[in-house]
Amino acid sequence: MRLCYLIGYPVGHSMSAVIQNAAFKELELDYRYELRPVRPGELGGFIRTQLREKNVRGANITIPHKVGATAFLDELEALASAIGAVNTVVNEGGRLKGYNTDGRAAMRALGEEYGDLGGARAVIIGAGGAARAIGYHLSSTVEEIAIVNRTPARAERLAEDLSKNPECRASIRAAGLGGLPDALVRADILINATPLGMSPETRETPVDGGLLGPGLLVFDTVYNPMRTRLLREAEEAGSRTLSGVRMLVYQGSDSFRLWTGVEAPEGAMLRAVERALGGGGE
Ligand code: NAP
Repeated sequence: MRLCYLIGYPVGHSMSAVIQNAAFKELELDYRYELRPVRPGELGGFIRTQLREKNVRGANITIPHKVGATAFLDELEALASAIGAVNTVVNEGGRLKGYNTDGRAAMRALGEEYGDLGGARAVIIGAGGAARAIGYHLSSTVEEIAIVNRTPARAERLAEDLSKNPECRASIRAAGLGGLPDALVRADILINATPLGMSPETRETPVDGGLLGPGLLVFDTVYNPMRTRLLREAEEAGSRTLSGVRMLVYQGSDSFRLWTGVEAPEGAMLRAVERALGGGGE
């Protein structure tokens, strides 16, 4: 039996165990996925010891450790290094290599829903690990990105980092949350890359619903609940919506392939998460 972990804090909201264990079962692989709450301050110790154990094949890294975990790994793939955050770790005989599958997954889900992203103007709320990964991929595709974050300095740092990427073709601005109304005036796509609205705090939302309207695609990376307050208010305002479920399945599918070497059964993963979340209610 080989183990894969989810390392984060908190981890109770996560559906990663649901999708990964459904996939292991579907393909009859002798793997098990377990949630491991690891507090900030304990991350280095956990990675140095438990993640290197022989029967541990790897891990997903989630909030709030995606950026911090990079410092404790032996090696990063070029993409994760450029993004500055990891969501997947593979244990190769005690050597830990970090990957990032979040950004590709978000782009795949966004592309399916929006179509051609060239020329689009995007607003990202958040400047943490998920925002870094999505921003990195978006910056080589769309026309404009506004990064809006509670801590403005972090938004500015991310905007600078993205602009330095030689493949960046977008013009990138940064602001605090107060800059959201202005940023939304020109936006085609709004992406929530904060935990606001996630279970159990389902009454929260990162955006005043009055700022939303037709012509906007609202992508909430939060997937639990499937229909967040942000997505409900977006629908009411006439915006198109995309929940974080497809991103969850696609990032998990890439992680699964990195651990097992075989293609993930995405249909089984999607069915498992939809069953567990009960069709999107709260
Ligand atoms: P992170 O690195 O800890 O970053 C969290 C971000 O949210 C930061 O920008 C933080 O702002 C902001 N934030 C946190 N609490 C806030 C609050 N109360 N008000 C305003 N802003 C707040 O976390 P992460 O790894 O990027 O994950 C963020 C979220 O993305 C997760 O909760 C998850 O729902 C979602 N996600 C989904 C998928 C998927 O597959 N669907 C994958 C990855 C992530 P400061 O900089 O000011 O602290």
